[in-house]
Amino acid sequence: MIIAHTIEDVRTRVKQARAEGKRIGFVPTMGYLHDGHLSLVEISKQQSDFQVMSIFVNRIQFNDKKDFESYPREHERDFALAKSAGVHLMFLPEEEEMYCNQHTFVEMESLTEHLCGATRPGHFRGVCTVVSKLFNIVQPDVAVFGRKDIQQAIIIEKMVKDLNFPLRIIIAPTIREEGGLAMSSRNKHLSPSERIRALSIYRGLLAAKSLIESGNRDVRTIIAAAQSNIESSRPEKIDYIELVSYETLAPINIMNQRAILAIAAFFGTTRLIDNMLIEKNGEHYSCVL
Ligand code: AMP
Repeated sequence: MIIAHTIEDVRTRVKQARAEGKRIGFVPTMGYLHDGHLSLVEISKQQSDFQVMSIFVNRIQFNDKKDFESYPREHERDFALAKSAGVHLMFLPEEEEMYCNQHTFVEMESLTEHLCGATRPGHFRGVCTVVSKLFNIVQPDVAVFGRKDIQQAIIIEKMVKDLNFPLRIIIAPTIREEGGLAMSSRNKHLSPSERIRALSIYRGLLAAKSLIESGNRDVRTIIAAAQSNIESSRPEKIDYIELVSYETLAPINIMNQRAILAIAAFFGTTRLIDNMLIEKNGEHYSCVL
């Protein structure tokens, strides 16, 4: 695995792979890799020949300085995991390489009013800006994002369409720990007891799933089922539990379309997010966690 620190080096290596007739796959991350990240590489390998991963903790998407500073960073460990997953080129830029007196930012006018867009001001501006830059640097044929961050994945799909980036976005399933907790680099910050309490997010989603799949269409009842599970484990704060349209990411009152049940809650000082996809097949709904 080659480790590139500069944009120029990435461009040279990717150009070389392209000249050899290879299709380029790309998995952007903030590092502290886990099986969720590695599953994205697996999917990318099915669609492309040369795997690029980036690790960059993007300051401008953090609305909480402490969260940025304490974000786990362990590069040697990440390199070993990425290499064994089949990454060919790792892009690990310094902040100055990515941002040098930046005056241009990418802001999405829709899809950002709710969920994390509402609770983390400026977050998606930071995400869209860094992902645009990374797409221009790597110029991949495919890029894989996790459904775990579903609002992010949907926003990036839309951005790629709006700005005519010549690449395909793939949205990959959420990988969970035993017990159902969605894998996340931030899980490292959970104490053993917070980790146990955090399992209530998954239980909340399962409770909602069972209501929906048994025919309940009342969104308030569905949200209440998830909420009571989570509240019973005394989260420090619930940012949101919302049932939103997949198309608009705006809350809906009645189940009548493809939708998402999305949750953000704090356990200790750690903010966790998770969600469930609600697929509509005729009059029947099935939930994917
Ligand atoms: P991050 O390093 O947290 O910014 O995540 C990098 C990519 O990995 C994003 O596309 C995330 O959605 C994805 N990802 C994070 N956690 C998981 C997970 N548990 N399962 C699948 N994908 C994930």
